[in-house]
Amino acid sequence: MNKLISLALFSVAITTFSCNNPDAQTGADPDNVREGLIFPKGEKIENGHFHGTAWLTSLVVSDSTNFNAVGSVTFEPGARTNWHLHPAGQIILATGGVGYYQEKGSPKRILHKGDAVKCPPNIPHWHGASPDQQFIQIAITGRENGPTEWLQPVTDEEYDASK
Ligand code: MN
Repeated sequence: MNKLISLALFSVAITTFSCNNPDAQTGADPDNVREGLIFPKGEKIENGHFHGTAWLTSLVVSDSTNFNAVGSVTFEPGARTNWHLHPAGQIILATGGVGYYQEKGSPKRILHKGDAVKCPPNIPHWHGASPDQQFIQIAITGRENGPTEWLQPVTDEEYDASK
């Protein structure tokens, strides 16, 4: 290709990249930098099993040699899952914000960045954001005993309960 044309196209590409990405020098996603995110926010969850707005990035897909599915979920303030259970359990790693986790019959727990929760197999529970702050979690979900079983929505009374 003609050198001049190449240079012109390169300049256009750099300009476009710079306009869309204030952190062009580091290559970091500006949304991630601003919010301190580890993983991208991902796609809006539209499966009908959540209340409010939540986002999912799938990080690892389970397969026949490693049955764990790993995903990063971002709950906007007030957003939460429905009650549900995982036949092979789940590990939740809190990576940002303030969230809630509750197992059926137990008090609601408040989760902060750095907290880890081991959710036993087949125990109904829910997780989500606090009313005023988003919550970001990595969920590691065993899939060897079957898919997540979704149950009823978390009522406002349950969400607001102090225990
Ligand atoms: Mn769960």
